[in-house]
Amino acid sequence: MRLHSGSLYWPETKTDEKKTYPALEETITCDVLIIGGGMAGALCAEEFSHTSLKTVLVEKNSIGSGSSSANTGLLQYSNDKMLHEFIEEIGEDKAVQFYKLCLEAIEELQQVTGTLAHPVDFIRRPSLYYASDENDAAKIKKEYDALYKHGFEVEYYDKEKISEVFGFEKPAAIMTHGDAEVNPYLLTHALIETANIRNVEVYENTAVQDAGREEEYHLFKSEKGVIRAKKVIYSTGYETVPFAEKLGAEINRTYAIATNPINELADWTYQALIWETKRPYFYMRTTVDGRIVAGGLDEDKMETPVDEAFIKERGERLLNHIKKHFSLEDLEVSHAWAACFGESNDGLPFIGEHPDKKDVYYCLGFGGNGTVSSKVGAKLLAGLIQGEEADGSEIVRLDR
Ligand SMILES: Cc1cc2nc3c(=O)[nH]c(=O)nc-3n(C[C@H](O)[C@H](O)[C@H](O)COP(=O)(O)OP(=O)(O)OC[C@H]3O[C@@H](n4cnc5c(N)ncnc54)[C@H](O)[C@@H]3O)c2cc1C
Repeated sequence: MRLHSGSLYWPETKTDEKKTYPALEETITCDVLIIGGGMAGALCAEEFSHTSLKTVLVEKNSIGSGSSSANTGLLQYSNDKMLHEFIEEIGEDKAVQFYKLCLEAIEELQQVTGTLAHPVDFIRRPSLYYASDENDAAKIKKEYDALYKHGFEVEYYDKEKISEVFGFEKPAAIMTHGDAEVNPYLLTHALIETANIRNVEVYENTAVQDAGREEEYHLFKSEKGVIRAKKVIYSTGYETVPFAEKLGAEINRTYAIATNPINELADWTYQALIWETKRPYFYMRTTVDGRIVAGGLDEDKMETPVDEAFIKERGERLLNHIKKHFSLEDLEVSHAWAACFGESNDGLPFIGEHPDKKDVYYCLGFGGNGTVSSKVGAKLLAGLIQGEEADGSEIVRLDR
């Protein structure tokens, strides 16, 4: 499966020496095997590095080379499905608890980033979520009411306020506080390097396959090695959805760009993360080196295109969309890419033990908030695997 195509921006930002890890060439035994060295696996590795469990992470290619290098790095607690919509679907208690878990995950990510081996450009930012048209203005008001009622820090912006603060015209918006931006590629690398320095063994170029059971162990084989693991976590991203038929998930494709660095970004109020109510939605953020990263234009197709001209054309469309908000004449596309994007039908991630396979767990952050939900997942799985209470596990479990 080709997870992305075109020209990615984030890998170019890793200018210091990239740590590499050996391929597995022996038989090893561990308590916890994490399969996949993307954002989800990296967050799990960091979480387990605080335990005494012997943990191993394997990646079939190189660290962070999957969807995590295409991720646009917005860390938001608001999900693609709004709080008031979740309340209607799963009830007030569960919906509010899920949103609070996401908000806490961003707080925890901030703390974690302060302990990592390298900087990852984590910066707290507010989010502006605007109504794409007059019809959605009522939805925005409903969302404001739901967030405010449950104690989230939120402001309501009418048309005049949006124009005064941001300089563009939209019917209504909410400004939420508690979100952040990050460089997802640097974060993935720094989490794994830090976990490795602590106690987690890491192997790259090590594709593993389930090879059955041997007593209390799950057996996994790679080209030259064998892993015996008591517990297994699949953090394999969009490539493995063995239970999708039952739960319902879709893999589509989406597009993103990074622009050239420009000087006028100081006028981008609060350097807020900006997104909208339309589906599929357009979104944008700024970067520490003065670029704009934007994304959207999702299509119901699973394979990512290889035609450079096609990706470039989608990139120009995203650029024009930015220019509808801000008059930035010198703005150009410097990188444009396409990527697979997985979404569950109910808008929740897949986190927990496989209903029919003991000691086999999944940390799959499907949806626009993959990083935040993977952080929720990493904590939750560390709790479940150590036999502790794991708040919220009922909401995201695989047989929900
Ligand atoms: C364009 C785009 C923009 C996004 N923007 C955001 C955003 O702004 N904020 C946000 O929170 N989320 C965002 N997401 C979602 C986010 O990227 C993903 O949820 C997350 O980064 C994926 O991480 P992952 O670890 O689950 O998957 P991946 O990064 O794909 O990692 C999975 C890894 O598992 C490895 N693997 C698979 N099978 C095996 C095997 N058998 N053996 C060994 N290794 C294996 C793969 O090689 C891969 O490296 C975005 C996604 C896309 C595509």
